[in-house]
Amino acid sequence: MRKRWISLLVTGLLVGGVLTPASPALAAPTFKVPFPCGQSWSGQTRTGHSPANAIDFNRTDDLGDPVVASAPGTVDRVTDLGGTSYGKYVRINHGGGYSTYYAHLNGFNVSVGQTVGYGKVLGWVGSTGGSTGPHLHYEQRLNGGDIQARFNGALALYWGTKTYTSDNGCSSGSGNGTVDTSGTALTVRSGPGTGYASVGTVADGTRVTIACQTSGTTVTGTYGTSSIWDRIGSGRFIADAYVYTGHDGYIPGVPRC
Ligand SMILES: [Zn+2]
Repeated sequence: MRKRWISLLVTGLLVGGVLTPASPALAAPTFKVPFPCGQSWSGQTRTGHSPANAIDFNRTDDLGDPVVASAPGTVDRVTDLGGTSYGKYVRINHGGGYSTYYAHLNGFNVSVGQTVGYGKVLGWVGSTGGSTGPHLHYEQRLNGGDIQARFNGALALYWGTKTYTSDNGCSSGSGNGTVDTSGTALTVRSGPGTGYASVGTVADGTRVTIACQTSGTTVTGTYGTSSIWDRIGSGRFIADAYVYTGHDGYIPGVPRC
């Protein structure tokens, strides 16, 4: 076995040396099932669907159930096509050419230009447009063309029907950070802003668990200027500008407070 493995490796190297290396593609966002944490939905793909790689999601009595953002991004369409096609639909631009579509909604909960994170409710399952019964028509697209959908990086079932369980916006999606103040203890506030009462301090270098993040007073700290505040406990917030999280903005997967 060992010899065979080595010979395969050498063969791979030789082949690799002949081929022209492909330019690396931009990393896709980590898309999650477009329903709240813990829910299970039946997702169907079929070759006769338009576009072909779309997924129709259903569960029992799903009319009016919330539909949530698959990944962070900016809402760039909130459109009502009336009794045709998608009917009421939302599109999110995730950057890097990636977008997602949520169609046949019975109502909207977001507006164009709004920034959304995982688990943000976009609207509710409906049967608008060219739909014959309540369901969510969902698409992932790259540079405008529909692509086979992935959830947490795993390819959806093509073709057929499969149950998908959501981990989108689960509270276990907490984040971590390290307080960096260059020495001084960081003030903990009762809310997301410098106007809230001081309820203690955390020492420079403290590792914190971030349950959720929200927008508050703009603070300039070690990592620049930011209006993001991190909730590190019940009624305990610290300015994200002093916390190293590995991300310039909101931490992917960490919910909004
Ligand atoms: Zn569909």
